[in-house]
Amino acid sequence: MKTKNFNILIIGSGPAGLFAAIWLEKVGMDKIAIIDRNAYPAGGLLNDGKLNFDYRVGMDVDELRITRADAEKIMREIKQVFSGFPRCRQVTFLDQHKEVLALAEMASEHGAQFIAPEQWHWGTDNGKALVDYLRSYLKNTDFLLRTEVTSMQKLNNNNFRLDCKHNNKSVHYNAPVVLASPGRSGAYWFRDVARKMNIQNNFGPIDVGIRLELNRKFYDIVTDIVYDPKFIFKTGRHDDRVRTFCTNPGGRVRMEDYGDFKLINGDALLGKKTKNTNFALLNTIALTKPYSDTTEFAQSIAKQFFLLGGGKPIVQRIGDFRERRRSSQATFNSTTRHFEVCKATCNATPGDITLAMPARIMDNLWESLKSMDKIIPGILHPSTLMYAPEIKFFDTHFPTDRFLETNIKGVFVAGDGTGKSRGIVGAAISGIIAAKGMLERTGNSFKNFGE
Ligand SMILES: Cc1cc2nc3c(=O)[nH]c(=O)nc-3n(C[C@H](O)[C@H](O)[C@H](O)COP(=O)(O)OP(=O)(O)OC[C@H]3O[C@@H](n4cnc5c(N)ncnc54)[C@H](O)[C@@H]3O)c2cc1C
Repeated sequence: MKTKNFNILIIGSGPAGLFAAIWLEKVGMDKIAIIDRNAYPAGGLLNDGKLNFDYRVGMDVDELRITRADAEKIMREIKQVFSGFPRCRQVTFLDQHKEVLALAEMASEHGAQFIAPEQWHWGTDNGKALVDYLRSYLKNTDFLLRTEVTSMQKLNNNNFRLDCKHNNKSVHYNAPVVLASPGRSGAYWFRDVARKMNIQNNFGPIDVGIRLELNRKFYDIVTDIVYDPKFIFKTGRHDDRVRTFCTNPGGRVRMEDYGDFKLINGDALLGKKTKNTNFALLNTIALTKPYSDTTEFAQSIAKQFFLLGGGKPIVQRIGDFRERRRSSQATFNSTTRHFEVCKATCNATPGDITLAMPARIMDNLWESLKSMDKIIPGILHPSTLMYAPEIKFFDTHFPTDRFLETNIKGVFVAGDGTGKSRGIVGAAISGIIAAKGMLERTGNSFKNFGE
C-alpha cells in the first residue's frame, strides 16, 4: 500500500477548508491536499449562499480568540475573494440607517434585539459556478475527492496518517499537520476520531426550533431593507435565548435527510423566486449534569418528529395551532380558514408540532413569535406554516489555542463541525486563522496576517 506525503492535509472542502488552502497558497505554502468524500469539493457552499459580514453573526470572536477589529480585517480579505464572482451580490446595505434604526427601536420596545449585518447572496442556482471560481484560486492544492477519511493516527515521527477509502480501496496520506474541517455532516465522525486520539472536546449548546414559511407580503417590509434580519429574544417565561436565523425572501423550505430522521432547512434561488419567505426560529439549549450530551438530546427530539410525522418533518398552520388542533391533509389548503394565502413549498406531514417539541422550547418559540408579530404585524397570519424540527448540530466543542490548534500539536480544527463557526463567513474566518497556525507549525512564518 502506497502512502503519499504532504505538508498539510485538510479534511473537508467547505468554506473552512477552502479558505484555509487559499490563504496558505497565497503565502507560498506547497504540498497541500484537501480531502473530501464528495465528488465535488464544496461542502455547504452549494446551499443558498447568504454571506453575513458581521462579527456578531455566525461566529464567536471570544471562541476564535480574535478582536472585533481582527474579525473585520479578515472579513475584508474574504469579501475581496467573493467580490470577484459577479453573481454574488450585496443585498443588505448599511447606509439605510434610518429604516434599520426604526426597526431596532421597534424591536427593543418589544424586548428584542435587532441586528442588520452587511449581507451578500449568490443563490443555490449559482453554487457550482461559485465553487469553480473559488477553486480557480487553488493552483497547487491537490483535491483528493470521493475519498472518505475513516481514521487518523499519530505516527512515531510526529506525522499523522489519514486512512481513507477511495472507490472501495484503502489509501493513506501522511502529513505533520492536519486541519479537521468536516462540517456538521462529519462532526460526530470526527468527535469519535478525536476521542480515540485524546483530542480534548466537550458538548456545547445546541439550537433547536422551527422554520416559519409565510406569504412574503407580510415580511417584505423588513426583508426589503435587511435581506436576512436577525431578531434576538430573551424570553420572559424561561429566560432563554431565541433568535431568527437564515431568512430566505422568495425562497423554499427544504428537507435534509440524516438517515434516522429528517430536518428542515431553507434556501433561495437568485434566478427564480417563490411567493413565500421562510426563516428559522431557534432556541439555544445547554445541558449540565447529570446529562450534558446535547447531540443525543437533539437527536431524540428529531426522531420523535420522524416517528409522528410518518418518516417526514411535521408542518402546522398557525391557524390550527391557535385553535389547539393538529393540521390535517383535508383542511391544509382550506380557503374558509384563509390557508390558501401561503402555499407550502415543502412536502412535510400536516400534524401537531407540540406533540414532539419539549414544552420549554415550544413556550420560548411561541412567546418570541408573538413579540415578532407585534414588530411585524401579519407574520402570524392563520396561513403561516411552522415546520419542525430545525436543529443545528454545531454542538461539539474543541478547546483550542489562538490558532485553533488542539491539545495535540499539529491537529487544527475549523468550521461548523468543530464548534468554531455557524455559517459560511465564520467558517472561512476560522479556516484562515488555522492556516496561520499551520504555517507556523510547519516551520514557516507569515507577514501581514489578515491583510
Ligand atoms: C440548506 C442549507 C442552507 C444554508 N444556507 C446558508 C447561508 O445562506 N449562509 C450561511 O452562512 N450558511 C448557510 N448554511 C450553513 C453553511 O453551509 C455552513 O455554515 C458551512 O458550509 C460550514 O462550513 P464548513 O467548512 O465548516 O463545513 P462544510 O461546508 O459542511 O464542509 C465539510 C466538508 O467535509 C466533508 N467531510 C466530512 N467528513 C468527511 C470525511 N470523514 N472524509 C472526507 N470528507 C469529509 C463533507 O463532505 C463536506 O464537503 C446552510 C446550510 C444548509 C444545509
